[in-house]
Amino acid sequence: MEELKLENIYKEMGISDKVYAFGAATEEQLAERFKKIDETAEYNQLKVLKAMQENKVSEACLLGTTGYGYNDIGRDTLEKVYASIFHTEDALVRPQITCGTHALALALMSNLRPGDELLSPVGKPYDTLEEVIGIRESKGSLKEYGISYKQVDLLPDGSFDYENIKKALNDKTKLVTIQRSKGYQTRPTLSVARIGELIHFIKEIKPDVICMVDNCYGEFVERIEPTDVGADMVVGSLIKNPGGGLAPIGGYIAGKKECVENAAYRLTSPGLGKEVGASLGVLSSFYQGLFLAPTVTAAALKGAIFAANLYEKLGFKVVPNGTESRHDIIQAVEFQNEKAVIEFCKGIQAAAPVDSFVVPEPWAMPGYDSDVIMAAGAFVSGSSIELSADGPIKPPYAVYFQGGLTWQHAKFGILKTVQFLDESGILSDNL
Ligand SMILES: *Cc1c(COP(=O)(O)O)cnc(C)c1O
Repeated sequence: MEELKLENIYKEMGISDKVYAFGAATEEQLAERFKKIDETAEYNQLKVLKAMQENKVSEACLLGTTGYGYNDIGRDTLEKVYASIFHTEDALVRPQITCGTHALALALMSNLRPGDELLSPVGKPYDTLEEVIGIRESKGSLKEYGISYKQVDLLPDGSFDYENIKKALNDKTKLVTIQRSKGYQTRPTLSVARIGELIHFIKEIKPDVICMVDNCYGEFVERIEPTDVGADMVVGSLIKNPGGGLAPIGGYIAGKKECVENAAYRLTSPGLGKEVGASLGVLSSFYQGLFLAPTVTAAALKGAIFAANLYEKLGFKVVPNGTESRHDIIQAVEFQNEKAVIEFCKGIQAAAPVDSFVVPEPWAMPGYDSDVIMAAGAFVSGSSIELSADGPIKPPYAVYFQGGLTWQHAKFGILKTVQFLDESGILSDNL
């Protein structure tokens, strides 16, 4: 029988010889980096396993409760597992937390009181947080409840503006929010070490301030998490890294006992807190997803680095660049060209296992201040640990690409984007 060649199946799947060869050559150059990523995944795999063993995860934990959900051993044990992984006193991990924005809003609204002030020392937060805070007028915002907000931008070179952070900290400052990932911006993502330096600086000035980190897209990218360097609370979404692609919904807050308790009393009700909240049937996916999360995150990370290197060679600005160290799974490519953003997203969509036949278009998505085009053919709707791309239709016409449950799928998706851009004549002769 004739050998079944890799490039042949790529060809059957619409990848030209030229694009395939370009990808193969780039992949070869990344072997050393990919090995380091695998070692981090190995470290984090054992960290997760250790937490599951030490907290005695049992078969009974995988079942669910209904109704009030009193004495839900699976839910309570999972929260202990998260607390072990993040080295925190407590955690809240719930399917009733509907998404990352909800988890962040919950952490903020439950730990701030009227008259308090919130400070972001790392510039503008993620778009959806603008309405939570009240930067953009919104019903139910922190602003409506008399909670004020201050922001100190990063300096042009991406470093912290320590002088103005010091000035911004005052008697009212109760909570500092630090976003680890760049989100829809082109600033650098913060390493855990840098987050630690910032927290140290802030706590020297105001030891009792609560330091919260928006950990979305950052989990398991490094061997340590922000709570290992002084963060009082980390917050994230289960349809990103820690859900491992299997969690169908959910968010988490891990941190100091008091912070987590405040969040629990707000999520359910004063007096009830963590004691209620049936897990229904989702716990086995939370556990299994968490177990897979280190390797899934590694796959996504390889995809991001692969994309950075391909698009850099094609002459586009990529953030982070092809060689920079990584602290989240997001890759931005600045096209300065609306059509390129759309073609890129079409390529990601065409590579999907679900809905590969649909064509994405820009639309006015709730929570965002411009039209956004999104490509996602995911098993879990909107999951961005699965191969996905978002492009806000505004300058610098960048796409934010992330995810990939397996490296092989991430690679295929990225090659598909190159193929789409090539076929629509956007690429010059660099290919
Ligand atoms: C995704 C994300 C959020 C919001 O999460 P959703 O689940 O989309 O609501 C907040 N902050 C950052 C940095 C994110 O990446």
